[in-house]
Amino acid sequence: MIRWNGDWSKMIKSRLCNALLSCLLLLPAIVPAPASAEPVPVAKRVEAKPVSGRIALTFDDLPALTILDDQPYVTYLNKVLLRELKLHHFPATGFVNESKFDDLVRPQQIAVLRAWLDAGMDLGNHTFSHDAPEELGARGYTEDIAKGEVVTRPLMAAHHKRERYFRHPYLKSGYPLAVKTYIDDWLTRHGYQIAPVTMDADDWEFAEPYDYAISHRDAAMAAHIKGEYLSHTEAMIHWYRRASQALFNRDIPYVILLHATRLNADSFEDLAAMLKRNRLKPVTLDEALRDPAYRTPDSYVGKDGVDWMERWALQLHRRLPNEDKNDPPLDIQQAYDRVDNDRCSGGSDCSNTPAAPAKPR
Ligand SMILES: [Zn+2]
Repeated sequence: MIRWNGDWSKMIKSRLCNALLSCLLLLPAIVPAPASAEPVPVAKRVEAKPVSGRIALTFDDLPALTILDDQPYVTYLNKVLLRELKLHHFPATGFVNESKFDDLVRPQQIAVLRAWLDAGMDLGNHTFSHDAPEELGARGYTEDIAKGEVVTRPLMAAHHKRERYFRHPYLKSGYPLAVKTYIDDWLTRHGYQIAPVTMDADDWEFAEPYDYAISHRDAAMAAHIKGEYLSHTEAMIHWYRRASQALFNRDIPYVILLHATRLNADSFEDLAAMLKRNRLKPVTLDEALRDPAYRTPDSYVGKDGVDWMERWALQLHRRLPNEDKNDPPLDIQQAYDRVDNDRCSGGSDCSNTPAAPAKPR
């Protein structure tokens, strides 16, 4: 995953007519209230409950995203995730990288996918290798997608399901335009629907330091990371809802990007409570994508991987509240850099980052 560092202010076009119309419509609201009127307490307005919304849970990098070469760890975290999803009656979609099967014990890695299907969850394609288009070229990338369905597709057929969804690794959809168009056309011809991301709380950045803390039996560090993760996630839920208002003037059904990690397994009770507190009801990806917002064209063509709120802001010429969007805390970013050098592959300047041991992704 790569952060977007673009300057959106350059892309904002004048919407004077709309602004004027909005002002006219708002006129009654800005007429000063009579002196005798009771002022509305600020706290009451802040604490107003959000309207109920919907959210589709998606988990990338199945069988698991972890820095540990440990099959029981992978099997365990999936068992907990699926148990919790079923307990709460939450549907979910897992996106698979079949290259990971041979990183650990292949039959047990495949058994993880079977467990997802047995639990009633859906699966999608996340490419075979988790490489980006610029690494493989347009044709190589689509061959990698096809290679990534060899095991998953028959498994799904045995569960009377069809592999329909595709999620781009790093949310990189191809650059320049000819590459993006080639990939998009291939996906359409092969019956895939792109699974956009409209909520992202950077869980991957917390998850690997968490693996490290668990493997070193550092319970205090694990608890600290989990606490930071949950705070950041709730802040991002609020931010994406503001983003949705900025683009669509309403709360669209969100598609949240999560990963199959031990952190999410161990945090699930808290995440479920958070969704309930924020009145977000988990729905299937299918249901979320039926919302008209998801028919907004994606005209973004660039080297960075960006989510669909950012893509649609370009399309709709609207401004996102990026000044309020926070990165994960610095100590988490530093901990991530210590255990993973993966972000160096995405074009970031990693010259000062010590190389971490290679690991399966
Ligand atoms: Zn991924």
